[in-house]
Amino acid sequence: MSDRQLLDLLTSTGDLQQELFGQARSVRHQRFGDEIVLRGVLEISNICQKDCDYCAMRRSNNSLNRFRLDVETIMEVARGITEAGINTIFLQSGQDTRCDPVLDEVIPAIANDLGAEVLLNVGERSKETYERFAQLGARSFIMKYETSDAALYKDVTHGPLDRRLQCMRWIRDAGMKIGTGNIIGLPHQSIESLASDIRLAFEFKPDFVSAAPFIPNPGTPLQHQPLGDLNLTLNTMAVLRIGLKDALIPSVSALEYVRPGGQLMGLNAGANVMTINFTPQLYREHYRIYSKDRFIVTLNHAINTAKMANLAANPGVKFRTEAPDCESLTNNS
Ligand code: SF4
Repeated sequence: MSDRQLLDLLTSTGDLQQELFGQARSVRHQRFGDEIVLRGVLEISNICQKDCDYCAMRRSNNSLNRFRLDVETIMEVARGITEAGINTIFLQSGQDTRCDPVLDEVIPAIANDLGAEVLLNVGERSKETYERFAQLGARSFIMKYETSDAALYKDVTHGPLDRRLQCMRWIRDAGMKIGTGNIIGLPHQSIESLASDIRLAFEFKPDFVSAAPFIPNPGTPLQHQPLGDLNLTLNTMAVLRIGLKDALIPSVSALEYVRPGGQLMGLNAGANVMTINFTPQLYREHYRIYSKDRFIVTLNHAINTAKMANLAANPGVKFRTEAPDCESLTNNS
């Protein structure tokens, strides 16, 4: 695909956009049939050592109640996810290395005792830590590069992009599947920069890849930045589907936040994953990755959205959309 073609697809509207989405759906159909993958996410800590300008969980936000879940709570919720028939337990947190002893216990327990796939999104670690997580039974890990522009990455996350990319390579070398992705609508992000993001994904060939619209998060330095463009996000997803045919691509909850029905639009643009939120209610509202009012995806919402896209989402028969509430928030940072 030439640079010109890529830019034309990214900015497509009307008939050209519908043709792009149709091609993306056709690739998905050929590779995956008409079923989507369901993941169950549990947010295990909102404590973070990083200070990303777009995220309310950034370390300098002193007004957020912080929590870190213990082994028992994680295992109780993980059991609930498998009882709902979902076989991928997605553990997500801020970059909180004090979660590691907990992860060392829960990864083998989920993998061996529950027989479920462990997917992690817990941030940057050493090569040895990724190797240990893999040896303990973690099958996959999401590490988003957010943007391929090193200067922009540094501006908004205050860290080096190189470190992020190195972590991605370490994760793959450790034997885990790797997921990555970008944010659409960061300050001063050009269309050429977004095309470079896609090129980076094509080059890296991740197992999972996502595109998420930027959402201005109250109480953060970027709270007055406009919302990321929905069409640009959908076009990016469709181009990723066509270029990375076998990748799992989520229709992220941020799409639904940007516009009701946004996740259906994501499925219609070639996505094939939906992530159900099982974080206990008490903690959920403090996991302010993009907003305190973020859209919480339930199992019923995922199933209905898949149906509207003429796709099947097939968890087991025992539906349980809510995890039990847990006792209290901690303030351990
Ligand atoms: S985006 Fe992730 S790494 Fe950055 S501050 Fe938020 S939780 Fe931390």
